[in-house]
Amino acid sequence: MATNQNHPMNATNLNHQIHLQQNRRRFLRGLGLGAAFFTVSGAFAEQLALTPPQSEGPFYPDKLPLDTDNDLIILNNGLTPAVGEITHLSGRVLDAQGQPIRNALVEIWQADNNGVYLHTQDVHAKRDANFQGFGRFLTGTAGEYYFRTIKPMLYPGRTRHIHVAVKMKGREKWTTQLYVKGEPTNDKDGIYRSLKTAAARDALTVDFAPIKDSKTGELAAKFDLVMGFTPQV
Ligand code: FE
Repeated sequence: MATNQNHPMNATNLNHQIHLQQNRRRFLRGLGLGAAFFTVSGAFAEQLALTPPQSEGPFYPDKLPLDTDNDLIILNNGLTPAVGEITHLSGRVLDAQGQPIRNALVEIWQADNNGVYLHTQDVHAKRDANFQGFGRFLTGTAGEYYFRTIKPMLYPGRTRHIHVAVKMKGREKWTTQLYVKGEPTNDKDGIYRSLKTAAARDALTVDFAPIKDSKTGELAAKFDLVMGFTPQV
């Protein structure tokens, strides 16, 4: 597998990381929150429930976009934003003890507002050319990640979902899918239904909550990823 371009530790990626950092600061400012937002508060008394893994599915981009940053709404320096309900997706990557995992590469990919993936085989409808379809974020010291994307649109055969991968040095790629709380088609979705316990479903079902005072109806979704291992330091 060609993982070089995915590897966080190369020079091209430095620029990318700086860009991500800027985005992160801008986002925190935008929400009126400081760094304290992501601070882990004290020691966790118990082990956290692990986030259930799910299949990668067929539509991980077969050709990555030129822009792979964490803002899926704007392509490079484009002027036309993607269509859809803007969603600020954030959370932390944690180990089972609740300790943050830094330098984890979080990737998301999802259908655009027409229900189409950034994938040459997904041709059932017209793709939104302004939607990035895929993004990456390298977690910081508090394990935090952030994406600006849209609420995923439905496509035939599935309920709304966002695919998530976590890549770490020396680890197999880990994948899951996150779902929208209250979505009526969740209970008809075979992959969602493969989550056998309420706790497993809850762990992957996220509230896409309206942001207070947002004049454009933007949403915030918070999704923590609890990995079943403690990384080497
Ligand atoms: Fe999918």
